[in-house]
Amino acid sequence: MATKSFRGGVHPREYKELTEHIAFEVMPAPQEIFVPLNQHLGKEAIALVKKGTAVIVGSVVAEADGFISAPIHSSVCGTVTSIGKQSTPFGFPKDTIVIKTNGQAESNYLPPLSYETITQEEIKERVKAAGIVGQGGAAFPTYVKLTPPKDKKIEFVILNGCECEPYLTRDYRFMVERPEAVIEGLKLLLKAINVEKGYIGIEDNKPDAIKIMTNATAGENNIEVFSLKTKYPQGAEKMLIKAITGREVPPGKLPLEVGAVIQNIGTAVAVYDAVVKGEPSLTAALTVTGLGIKNPKNLLVPVGTPLKDVLDFCGGVTDDAVKTIVGGPMMGVAQHDLMAPVLKATSGIIVLTEKEISKGEETACLKCGQCVSVCPLNLMPTKLVRYSQLGRFEDAEQLGITVCMECGTCAYTCPANIPLVQWLRLGKQRVMQIQRQRAISQN
Ligand code: SF4
Ligand code: SF4
Repeated sequence: MATKSFRGGVHPREYKELTEHIAFEVMPAPQEIFVPLNQHLGKEAIALVKKGTAVIVGSVVAEADGFISAPIHSSVCGTVTSIGKQSTPFGFPKDTIVIKTNGQAESNYLPPLSYETITQEEIKERVKAAGIVGQGGAAFPTYVKLTPPKDKKIEFVILNGCECEPYLTRDYRFMVERPEAVIEGLKLLLKAINVEKGYIGIEDNKPDAIKIMTNATAGENNIEVFSLKTKYPQGAEKMLIKAITGREVPPGKLPLEVGAVIQNIGTAVAVYDAVVKGEPSLTAALTVTGLGIKNPKNLLVPVGTPLKDVLDFCGGVTDDAVKTIVGGPMMGVAQHDLMAPVLKATSGIIVLTEKEISKGEETACLKCGQCVSVCPLNLMPTKLVRYSQLGRFEDAEQLGITVCMECGTCAYTCPANIPLVQWLRLGKQRVMQIQRQRAISQN
């Protein structure tokens, strides 16, 4: 099998060995869960419960508000104690339903559907009712991705099995532990979009996952497994499409422009479970890892569980732990409040020690050009950052700052330790603000 890749990228130390051989463990319900109404990209869901409402596992506690939104279910049995602003892993508070658990195990799943006879519409409706969101980080409602605009012809679905962020091993464990669910989930996704061809891209640092998935797809003529070069950010949508199909998504456009829909491995499993078991989106599959956690694990955690409870379940943090990140170390968010909860799309909690994060002092730009040579989107990070620092946002716009996917590749390689991503994010937000104002004034 030929190994495919893309231009640019970096090779951070992986640290996958901390958890890659540890099977998923189910974490019991905590004493209290915190359920933000906006765990997805799009409009916040609308609460259907109030203080004092009794819920069981699977109860719908919030309904979707419009097309780009998703319903939310209770992951525990208990009683709603409040609804109000609470900490979230995004770094700012959001409206949140707080539920005190009662230790019961009653559940109310959706009725299981026949995998053999289910129709295209039934799959989409089930994905919508189950509140499934993309597990790759952005938490885009999966139902929306399964309903592309009528004028776009989708030719293939790509399952992203790269897991290119260092440390994380959740998708790898799914491929090793539940290959049938991954494949059957992919087949449901293909049927939902009415597409024939399915691809699975896996980085070549997971040879056993490649072998298992290749064996599991034997006899499936329309599904192909690809070995991709291990390189960050191989799992970014544009890089994945380029590596597998050779097609390039134009700057500022979506994968559907080149006939592609990308789904995460965990999303395929969630779709399978929603159809076959009737299970809504109740648990987050995640890796708890880093040199700062005493017992690294792969866990299935009730959505809404505070980060602190998850860390305690893993034996707590070491004395030299200095930083907790939700998500991967390249694109994740550093946490200041460990009462923030695990969300539907949380893929990892990483506890880092000084040894893992020490980068040294920031200095002036050395004009070495390394950031330019590794940017997978051919951007010029050094210039974009300079323009952001000087407030020259029109110039930053001209150079394509809005295309930046904030992958952190440039910052990782910068010998001057300049916080390039923070500057890029800031400049990008400002340019997008200017573009919105421009659109309003032109209308
Ligand atoms: S963060 Fe933006 S500029 Fe930096 S490497 Fe990634 S895409 Fe390029
Ligand atoms: S990698 Fe850092 S030091 Fe080198 S040109 Fe880019 S910003 Fe400057």
